[in-house]
Amino acid sequence: MPEDSMCENYTYEDQDFLPGNALEDYFAKIETAIAPEIKKIIDCLEKSTDETFAKAKILLFSILPELLVFYYRSGALLNEFAQGHKANKIFYLTEKILNDVYIKRLAKTLINVYSFAFIEGDFILSDQFISTAGLKIKSNFSNVSNRHIGLRETLVLIPLSSKYYALFWHSDSSFLVEENCCNNLSEIDNQKINEVIINNSYEKSVSKDQNLLATLLEKHKRVFPTQVFWGGEKKAGGFLKKKEIFFHDIDAKAFDYFFHVRLDTIMDYTDLGRNDLCACGSKKKFKKCHMPLYERVEEAWRYISDPKMRGRNIHSIPGTSAVEFPIAEWVNNIKD
Ligand SMILES: [Zn+2]
Repeated sequence: MPEDSMCENYTYEDQDFLPGNALEDYFAKIETAIAPEIKKIIDCLEKSTDETFAKAKILLFSILPELLVFYYRSGALLNEFAQGHKANKIFYLTEKILNDVYIKRLAKTLINVYSFAFIEGDFILSDQFISTAGLKIKSNFSNVSNRHIGLRETLVLIPLSSKYYALFWHSDSSFLVEENCCNNLSEIDNQKINEVIINNSYEKSVSKDQNLLATLLEKHKRVFPTQVFWGGEKKAGGFLKKKEIFFHDIDAKAFDYFFHVRLDTIMDYTDLGRNDLCACGSKKKFKKCHMPLYERVEEAWRYISDPKMRGRNIHSIPGTSAVEFPIAEWVNNIKD
C-alpha cells in the first residue's frame, strides 16, 4: 500500500468539543488492534483449506464492528456528513462511530441476514472503504439509498487486502459467487467488482497496479445523485437518480429505459396481456418481447408513485437487527 495514499491533512481537526488528536488516537488504537487479525485472516485464506476458511470467517465476523468504524471515519462518509452541515461534520461522525450499540447491530445484520463469501482477485480500494451496490432496479429510486446496509437486493464489499475482499449480499436471484467459501473471481467478475468499488469513491481510489486503475478510470463516469421528475396524465413522481453498477442485464436495460423513454411510450404497454402482440411493433408476443423489461419498470414505478410503498420497511431484509440510517436522516434524528 503506498504511503499517505488515503491521507488528508486536518481531516478530523475542526472539532472544538474534543481534545486535539483524540479521534486520530482512537482510530490508531483500533488499527493497532485489528491489523494483526486481518493478517491472520489473509494467512488463513492463503492456505485455502475448508478448515482455514472457517477460521478466517470467524476472525472476520469478530472484527466486523471495527471495520464498520473504518467505513464511517472514511473521507467519503465524512464528505456526506459535511453536506450542508460542514461545521458539524465531526460531531455527526462521532455520534455514529461512538455509538457502540448501533455499530454492533449493523455488524449483526451483516452476519445474520446476508449471504457471505470471501473473494479473491486483483482489487482496488476506494476512499469509502466499504463499497455497496444495489442488485435490483426496484430499490434504486428513492431517498432511501439502495446502498445502505440491511436493505434487500444489495451487496456490501469489505476490503482486507488488494487480493481479498469479504462479500456480503442479499438477493432473491443467483449471484456471481458461491456462498461460504473463498471464490477466485473470473476476470470479468473481478472487473465488475472493481467497477462497484470505484463507483463508491468520492475523491480517490487506490491500486497497486497503475494499469488496473487506468482501465477502470477510462470507463468510470463521475456522476452525483440528481433529482429527476417524471410526469404524465396518470402518473407523476420524483426520485433520485444515482450512479449505478448493474449485475443483471435486465436491470441495466430497465434503468436506461426509465430515463430515456417517453412516458407515452410506456403507457402503450400498460394494458397489454401476456399473449398480445408487443406494442413496439416487433410482431412478437408481449411476454416474449418487452414484458420482462416493462415489469421491472412498472415495479420501480409503483414504488415511486405510491406513498405507502416509500418507507424503508418494505426494503429492509426480514430479520435485520438494524438498517443503516441514510446520513441525512441520521442528522435529522440528532436535531430532534
Ligand atoms: Zn417489444
